Amino acid sequence: MSLNYILRAKKFKAKKSLGQNFLIDENIISFIANHASKEDEILEIGPGLGFVTEQLIENSKRVVALEIDKDAINILNKNLGKYENFHLIEQDILKTNIDDLPFTKEKIKVIANIPYYITSPILVHLLGEIDELAHKNRNRISQIILMVQLEVANRIVANENSQNKEYGQLSILSQMYSEAQIIKKVPKNCFSPAPKVDSALVSFEINDKPRVEITRLLKRTVKAIFMARRKNVKNSLLNAEFVGVEQALEKAKIDKTTRGEKLSLVQIQELSIALEEFN
Ligand code: SAM
Repeated sequence: MSLNYILRAKKFKAKKSLGQNFLIDENIISFIANHASKEDEILEIGPGLGFVTEQLIENSKRVVALEIDKDAINILNKNLGKYENFHLIEQDILKTNIDDLPFTKEKIKVIANIPYYITSPILVHLLGEIDELAHKNRNRISQIILMVQLEVANRIVANENSQNKEYGQLSILSQMYSEAQIIKKVPKNCFSPAPKVDSALVSFEINDKPRVEITRLLKRTVKAIFMARRKNVKNSLLNAEFVGVEQALEKAKIDKTTRGEKLSLVQIQELSIALEEFN
């Protein structure tokens, strides 16, 4: 741990309500910042006290940082305001369109050590809904490096073969539009104040095309299956008021007693196509 970072974090009265847990481990900070190179333009969500930001400014072409805490903004302006390639904006990420930010390149990278309570809203804000082929924010992003709780990271990268109920709507959304992988586990003592749980960094490399073709009933089928993941797939679909369920399952060659959480994305998509005939 870096004493410099520890002291600066301790001096600041962290706001729980804004999910403020500052990274104080210089190896993790460098690991994150090294994902930026001189040609990159970076959107940093929640720069906090600027420990990651400072290295991102050095490594990249331009950093646009969004922060909503006035106390943090004052510190960031004082310490980093001198850099011409740094743009600090007092704004909520969830109310921000990337198109409105001062970037010059078509594709940008997003780096975010975010408050954990808005992980899912942020992911939907950046990636869009699973059936949203043209999502404005996603179209502007080449890669996202996101710090999340370890348990959430496991859900993001899970598939039908995973244990422990990890596979679900978050896995489907993440993998529909990106190659998502855990690139580092981050123990809780790397933060000040330390959160209650360990974390992980997840990299999302955004693809131009969705993993499977979007069909009319795909989103509704995914929702039905994962709302009642432990139920067999027939009952899950009936519960969600689909009709022609047995015939559709037969057509998609899926055993009606299979649990929804054991279906791959391709199988779910085939099932949604089979359901179209009756719904
Ligand atoms: N990036 C810093 C670091 O790694 O040490 C701070 C991380 S801290 C977990 C999250 C930061 O996000 C805080 O500085 C908080 O004020 C800011 N934040 C919280 N909600 C936000 C929002 N909706 N939009 C932008 N920033 C937000």
